[in-house]
Amino acid sequence: MDALLGHPELAGRTGRFGRGAVLGAARRALEASREAATGGMPVPGLEELAARVAAELDGALAERTRAVVNATGVVLHTNLGRAPLSAAALEAVAGAAGYAAVEYDLAAGARGRRGAAAEALLRAATGAEAALVANNAAGGLLLALGGLARGREVVVSRGELIEIGGEFRLPQIMEAAGVVLREVGTTNRTHLRDYAAALGPGTAMVLAVHPSNYRVEGFATRPALAELAELAAGHGLPLLHDVGSGLLQGRLGDEPSVAGSLRAGAGLVLFSGDKLLGGPQAGLLVGRAGLVGRLARHPLARAVRADKLTLAALEATLAEHLAGRRDELPVWRALLLTVAELEPRAADVAGKVGPAASLRTGTSVAGGGSLPGEGLESVLVEVDPAPAGAAAVLARLRAGDPPVVARAERGRVVLDLRTVPPEQDGLVADALVAALAAGR
Ligand SMILES: *Cc1c(COP(=O)(O)O)cnc(C)c1O
Repeated sequence: MDALLGHPELAGRTGRFGRGAVLGAARRALEASREAATGGMPVPGLEELAARVAAELDGALAERTRAVVNATGVVLHTNLGRAPLSAAALEAVAGAAGYAAVEYDLAAGARGRRGAAAEALLRAATGAEAALVANNAAGGLLLALGGLARGREVVVSRGELIEIGGEFRLPQIMEAAGVVLREVGTTNRTHLRDYAAALGPGTAMVLAVHPSNYRVEGFATRPALAELAELAAGHGLPLLHDVGSGLLQGRLGDEPSVAGSLRAGAGLVLFSGDKLLGGPQAGLLVGRAGLVGRLARHPLARAVRADKLTLAALEATLAEHLAGRRDELPVWRALLLTVAELEPRAADVAGKVGPAASLRTGTSVAGGGSLPGEGLESVLVEVDPAPAGAAAVLARLRAGDPPVVARAERGRVVLDLRTVPPEQDGLVADALVAALAAGR
């Protein structure tokens, strides 16, 4: 152990990771080699052991959440952090990072209400009576179900029992919230009368979920939201609409808008902060004051509350929407890019890479469960990875600084600049040149 800890590979890492961490990793390495020796395997030498300990420390402790260049063309890429924040949101986050009046009334010099500014902006942006911010939409759903329907039945269509990915499965969230799932209708067809037949003394809520990431086409039907809202109201029940993507107003493909859903009579509408809203991860609940108020006072609200950095970024993002500057948010800028804008940028990158690169038309996608089945026309940079092969070139791109994430299609490396900020085009071209050169 002394020889191992004194090895120059590890002596330098003590300052970086702390003596306890190095000691722990060294113990594990020695233990593993003892076990290997007992099993008749060769005993590793000091150099090999030191290298193993260094690799464990570097792997586990030096890997941070790193900025990457998203050249996949998936605008809301769940694995790459969904919505990139706007400049205004970044500035707000930096401002709130120190002491900030997050729960403090500066005029009165007394305690204030957390989230009040974000809620006011949400009311203004959606026309809702009241609003509440949770740390993500799954948390918001847990709060809404647990706060309003615990121990009782929640009626939902079989066509809407969705999985969003990353362990978000509606039946399981309902179970975790302690509500009883009452399924009605079938996968493709649910009628108003199916809901009506299920409502009774045990019902606490009607739930409608926008099936964000897939589409049922053909012989399919579901009642209009307004009809469902009227049915629920007739029974004195709240209708909760989980719209997912957070399109505040207006139209975009088949996406329901928050304002439209409120107008149709939903008592509560839930949506994400980091999808089409283009802000930080958050679960936003808007709707009738009585319902939102009950949730705000529920103990679960404390468990799923948003932190000050989220609130700051959310306020800045909502302010952009309210000021009519939605198109300046990175998500919307990327969604609205045209082929005419992308073509010269792609040509520029391909030109720098040389004869291995060419342009072709293709499609980008919104991602994040938004606009399923609707591609966005794009111009792609396609690169012949020979002789290394696409997987090796993609790995070299990911190993760069910053890492560049692209995709492979039919043996070619494919980059879509829709999701690359234009000022990083040069960096992408340089990374491609280096990744191709390394294989020659
Ligand atoms: C994305 C989505 C969610 C989950 O949102 P998170 O912010 O990831 O928790 C829930 N419901 C719907 C309909 C969605 O599209």
